[in-house]
This record gives sequence, C-alpha cells and structure tokens, in this order.
Amino acid sequence: RTQMGELLATQQAKIETHPCYSKQAHQYARIHLPVAPACNIQCNYCNRKFDCSNESRPGVVSKLMSPAEAVARYQKVKMRIPETRVVGIAGPGDPLANPKSTIATLKAVAALKHELHLCVSTNGLNLLDHVDDLKAVGVDHLTITINCIDADIGSKIYPWVYFNHKRLRGRVAAQTLIDRQLAGLKAAADLGMLVKINTVLIPGINDHHVAAVAQEVKRLGAMLHNVMPLIAEAEHGTYFGLMGQRSPTESEIAAAREAAGQSMEQMSHCQQCRADAVGKLGQDCHADLDDDGSS
Ligand code: SF4
Ligand code: SF4
Repeated sequence: RTQMGELLATQQAKIETHPCYSKQAHQYARIHLPVAPACNIQCNYCNRKFDCSNESRPGVVSKLMSPAEAVARYQKVKMRIPETRVVGIAGPGDPLANPKSTIATLKAVAALKHELHLCVSTNGLNLLDHVDDLKAVGVDHLTITINCIDADIGSKIYPWVYFNHKRLRGRVAAQTLIDRQLAGLKAAADLGMLVKINTVLIPGINDHHVAAVAQEVKRLGAMLHNVMPLIAEAEHGTYFGLMGQRSPTESEIAAAREAAGQSMEQMSHCQQCRADAVGKLGQDCHADLDDDGSS
C-alpha cells in the first residue's frame, strides 16, 4: 500500500471503533473521567453547577476526581465492561483550562497500554497551546464546540472569555475565541487527529449560520459535525433559560442538520452524555458502578 493508503486505513479503523464517530461502533463503550473543574469562557447555555454542555446533557452533577481516582475508576469500569474502548475527558469544565490534570490522567491511562482511544472535548480556547501535548500522549479523537464563526453572533452566546490573564467581553471576546478555535482545529487536523465539531443550535441566534460553520470547519480539516439542540429549560438555570430563550424544535434541528450536511458529515446519534458517562451510548450505567452511591 502507498503511505497515503496506510494513513487512510488507520484513520478508518480509528473511526470504526469509536462509538461517537460511527454508528457501527455501538458495541464499544466509552468512559468520561471528570477531572477538569475550571472553565475559561462563559457560555450562556452553561450552568456551572452541572457538566460542560460540550458533550453533556445538563442537569446532572458529576463527581470531580483527581487523576489517580480517575484512572482507578477507569480500571474498575474496564473490568466490568471489557468493551470499553474510549476514554474521554469532557469536563465538568474545559479539559484544556485544566491542562495539568487532563494530561496527567491521559498519560496514566496511556501507560496501561490497553487497546483504547483517548479523546478530549474542548471549547478550543486553549487548544493551540496544548495540541502537541495531546498528540504526544496519544489523543487521536478531539471534539471542539464551535457555535459560530461570526463575532456578532458569538457576543450573544459568550458573555466573557478569559484569555492571557484578561477577562474579555463583547465582540473582542467572541473574536478571540473564534480565532483560537479555528487555529486549534487546523493544528489538530494537521497533526492527523480526527476532529469532531459540536455546534449548539440556538434558535434566532445561530440557526441561520450552521451551514457557514460547517463549511469553514470542513475547510480546516474537521471530519464530523454534531449539531446539538440547545437545552434551554429554565429549570436548568442557564442564562439562556432565564432570558426566555427557547430550545429548537425537532424540525428546526432536522433543517439545521440538513443545511450543515451540505458540507459536513452529520452525527445524528449523539446522546449528549454527561462528563462522567460510562458505557455504551444510550446505556449509561454509573449507578451500579459507584459503590459509595455518591454519583
Ligand atoms: Fe460551560 Fe462548557 Fe461553556 Fe465552559 S465551555 S462555560 S463548562 S458549557
Ligand atoms: Fe469523546 Fe465526546 Fe464521545 Fe466523550 S462524547 S467519548 S468526549 S467524542
């Protein structure tokens, strides 16, 4: 085989054994290790009491763990669910706002030399600074939440962004985040990572814009797009919920996925799992895994 052929075959194998990337991989399970408490941006759809909405359905608190506790949890889960093939770090804040615990956890899991995919989900603000470390530790699947590529839209989604020791607001905050997300995406794709983009669909704010997002992320090397509905209900206590922002309807979600699908392959089987999720997609089972009943 040619070198290119080899590369494509490896990429294909990485996709086919990751349940979030391939519907065919649902026999495999994944675990999220909640080792990242802090976040460096504020999203209007976030409720800090709960998990990061990057990859999680809001409303359930995950118990924060140290890297050592997280590795122990992974080992316990792997014994019970041998099909566990993906270890993801997705919160409860932003993994790359907590780079030390995130990298330490990934390194410790990688040292076990199990047949595994290591996976990180981030808002992308700090990605450029850590992409080489992620690659070195063996992260092959990366998710970035990119809700817009237009700072006017972004300023309605992100009240602030904390960057270079400064709290930025308004257009400047949004533009900084967008620039960093896109540069981080390109760097990760150039390193051969399989990059998935999450976009939270917010009616009246970015619903007319998802096709533009899809086009741009495709150009920069993303391989999969997950348009996720905003969960805005006031009982989740998000700013959007409190401001009266509604969630999208089923038909709005379908229309957005179709528009984005013109340029990017769409992921429609996402379960918006929580930051400490365990098991196969749609079959989370932490209740019986926690012997202290604190989950
Ligand atoms: Fe919340 Fe995640 Fe947004 Fe941070 S990136 S504010 S944890 S939703
Ligand atoms: Fe990785 Fe996201 Fe799937 Fe978790 S939900 S395993 S972070 S792609």
